[in-house]
Amino acid sequence: MNAIVPKTRKLHVVTHGCQMNVYDSARMADVLAPLGYTTVDTPEGADMVIMNTCHIRERAADKVFSALGRLRDLKEAGGSKMMIAVTGCVAQAEGDLLLRRAPYVDLVVGPQAYHRLPELIARVHREKKSVLDTDFPADQKFDFLPDAAAFQGVIANLTIQEGCDKFCSFCVVPYTRGAEVSRPAASIIAEAKRMVAQGTREVVLLGQNVNAYHGQGPDGTIWNLARLLLALSEVPELRRLRYTTSHPSDMGEELILAHRDNPALMPFLHLPVQSGSDRMLAAMNRKHKADDFRRIVAKLRDVRPDMAFTSDFIIGHPGETDADFAATMKLVRETGFALAYSFNYSPRPGTPAAGLPQVPDEVKNARLYELQAELRRQQDAFNAATVGLSTPVLFTGLGRHPGQIAGRSLYAQPVVVDSTAPLTGEVHTVKITYANPNSLLGTLTTTKETIAA
Ligand code: SF4
Repeated sequence: MNAIVPKTRKLHVVTHGCQMNVYDSARMADVLAPLGYTTVDTPEGADMVIMNTCHIRERAADKVFSALGRLRDLKEAGGSKMMIAVTGCVAQAEGDLLLRRAPYVDLVVGPQAYHRLPELIARVHREKKSVLDTDFPADQKFDFLPDAAAFQGVIANLTIQEGCDKFCSFCVVPYTRGAEVSRPAASIIAEAKRMVAQGTREVVLLGQNVNAYHGQGPDGTIWNLARLLLALSEVPELRRLRYTTSHPSDMGEELILAHRDNPALMPFLHLPVQSGSDRMLAAMNRKHKADDFRRIVAKLRDVRPDMAFTSDFIIGHPGETDADFAATMKLVRETGFALAYSFNYSPRPGTPAAGLPQVPDEVKNARLYELQAELRRQQDAFNAATVGLSTPVLFTGLGRHPGQIAGRSLYAQPVVVDSTAPLTGEVHTVKITYANPNSLLGTLTTTKETIAA
């Protein structure tokens, strides 16, 4: 008997926001692959378009609606055969409203329901009406996502934890992603092994509160992130591990020591502090003080002297004074960041800080300008300090120009080398010769893989 081959269909996925959305988009494509969907780069002619949305930025919903308007035109031009799905945090937050304002959308699916996409698509066809699924189901989506996954690349993301119980005053994540949930370690290790078999050599563990990870271990005990990282470091050929995004309150002793003891763990940590003012940190409900952050940074530098840090800052949270901002600048100057992301506070509907009196835009803008100038200076200094050093680089593929190959440093800086050697997936020592604002140039000093990285 012949196997039933599903009809080939074109899927276009638009991804907004964080790395977790990038991972989710890839997994949605994996879920739909057995139905015959293959991904295409443009929405024109696609059978299905998924808009995987993010609610972090201001007016996120407005931007989604204007992008949806363009898709509606395409859908109408193609005789309405294109199915439009909205997923991610805007889908979760706006739900019904989204379908009322954009009735041509066929599916609205929250982040916890991606594994049900085939069933939801079938319902749209069967019921000939739009379908909404934004529940936080009791079953975990990770138990139902398929094992087969498309190759993400030499560097790949792997979500190990979702949701957040911290309720920072400015953030929608606890409302859109729900309570903290950790995947069992065995399924994470199995997924990492599958990635490595496909050619991945660096895995970035993802979670909204990744260092709050507390998943069931294969031995029946609850594993923390340090324990999970140790198990992953034992996966043959998995050379590098990173994790993001961390919260200072969950930066325990064991995890700090893992940066000393686990050779696969990169000396680079994204640790959002948001503000250097204790008054603002309390107003933000951050559950840590500025000195807690300083202590963590000092301890990490103590156990791993080559540690470098990135962070997030929110400027102009309601109530922020000049003195609060000065405390942030002080912390930034004292710490010295390799890179940092900084934004003006903007209210998210439904979050506690949204209803408070706001700092005027011109004040926020002036503070942000000052902060970003300092952060840019620090980033340039960090990159410039690598010139002349020999450093291990994990090669990820061809560079943008012919005759170049590209990879990543220990600090995830893009590194470009003039070479045509087939080094993808290998770690080699590169002498850095020049620092651009966002990348480094270098020359290969050895073609032998270094063990150190
Ligand atoms: S810890 Fe992070 S994800 Fe959780 S509420 Fe705060 S900012 Fe949002």
